[in-house]
Amino acid sequence: MNIARKPYRVGIIGAGPAGTTLAALLAREGVDAVFFDDGRRPEMVVGESLIPRLVTVFRRLGIEEEVAKLGTYKPGVTWIFDENDALELSFTAMRGVLPTYAYNVPRKPFDELIHDTAVKAGARFIPCTVKLETDRTERGELVPRLSAETLALVPEWGGQQPDLLVDASGRRRLFAKLLGLTAKIGKRKDVSHFAHYDQVMMPKPAGQAIITRLKHGWCWRIPLQHALSIGVVVNKEHAKLYGSTAEEQLEAMIDQNKPLAEACPNRRRLTPVTTYTNYQLISDQGHGDGWVCVGDAFGFVDPMLSPGLCMAMTSAEQLADAITQNRPAGWDRAFHGYLDWFREQLKAWQELVDIFYGGQIFALQRTGTDMSRRFPGKISMIMQRHFEKNISGMAGGGLTTHPYSRNLLRFMTRYGIYGHEPEDFAVV
Ligand SMILES: Cc1cc2nc3c(=O)[nH]c(=O)nc-3n(C[C@H](O)[C@H](O)[C@H](O)COP(=O)(O)OP(=O)(O)OC[C@H]3O[C@@H](n4cnc5c(N)ncnc54)[C@H](O)[C@@H]3O)c2cc1C
Repeated sequence: MNIARKPYRVGIIGAGPAGTTLAALLAREGVDAVFFDDGRRPEMVVGESLIPRLVTVFRRLGIEEEVAKLGTYKPGVTWIFDENDALELSFTAMRGVLPTYAYNVPRKPFDELIHDTAVKAGARFIPCTVKLETDRTERGELVPRLSAETLALVPEWGGQQPDLLVDASGRRRLFAKLLGLTAKIGKRKDVSHFAHYDQVMMPKPAGQAIITRLKHGWCWRIPLQHALSIGVVVNKEHAKLYGSTAEEQLEAMIDQNKPLAEACPNRRRLTPVTTYTNYQLISDQGHGDGWVCVGDAFGFVDPMLSPGLCMAMTSAEQLADAITQNRPAGWDRAFHGYLDWFREQLKAWQELVDIFYGGQIFALQRTGTDMSRRFPGKISMIMQRHFEKNISGMAGGGLTTHPYSRNLLRFMTRYGIYGHEPEDFAVV
């Protein structure tokens, strides 16, 4: 039920997927939503490999057909963890839990699509670099406010601050920096370089994303309509062993890995190389009096299983519901619930990502293969399918926090590995 009708005013800073999804959902419910963006995004933005849970968000936004047009149908993900062995995950294993597919998307047109959806729904877009200042509430709490200069860009608000300010500024974390809020930093110290290529062998089956374990990290291959996105994620210190520039490091890492080098010996780089660092971070505080965070501005775990856009857009859904299903007097309590949900999601993703980095998932897969060879038959097949359904449901974003799936995975990674050492498959 929508309680928050106009004239509730919400100012959203950032027009990435989190900000625009929120703007669209709020505007549809009659909230006066204004979103700002400074347009300072690089031409190439990571976040091209999506997971099945997002398809349900596209359906809610009514944009799945358009996403399908600009994107590439993605049937699953393959992890190549050494030259001879791979773990192939098909999203069909999650039938009955989630859509059995996802998409790979080039970020620019994808982000523009959600932006246009928000505007069509009635949200207003103001292109500008938002300037903030701090204020103290009657209770002495330090809070963010739009500067008079930024406020003047929304004449309809007559110089009044909105009822709610949302930080959707991604890794720039505007509110956290302004208010001096602390955060938990993740343990991996990686750097990531990526670019688009053509004249490469495209993954099979068509659209499949490929993750390859490297000597000092891992590499993604994400098939798009007109290019293959190739990115590496490597410990910062190790990266220096491959060259002094981002270009040298990316190319050398591709060349020095057999399955990768064989898949693209004549590759042609179509774009500059874009670099990301220091992205594992979760804020200790995500809301206060009159403000709240969404998407990466609150937290991001790791790119390994592609949870980023899923968290950005599903957190926007959760926040939109918290705003529209409560009066402003109830927002504080609703936002506590929303952030509990967000923290639990990030924790579950971290747990899942850790068993990929730690090699347990691959050791488990090898154990499973050994078992089916030794004890072929219906029971071992049923067990294998059951496990696959749960693990793919978690990685697909549908069962990530489901207690049964999490406990099954914990149990199996603790007691179900025989004859193989997770360290042999770990991504270091
Ligand atoms: C190496 C790497 C690989 C990744 N790969 C994937 C992947 O394959 N799949 C996936 O789902 N996710 C991936 N991610 C994560 C994904 O990119 C992010 O989670 C996602 O983009 C977050 O969306 P967002 O809307 O929260 O923030 P963003 O997309 O960062 O949007 C924030 C917006 O705010 C604007 N802004 C900032 N400050 C201001 C200001 N002062 N005024 C106005 N505007 C402002 C910015 O210009 C930007 O447009 C990856 C991340 C990394 C680091």
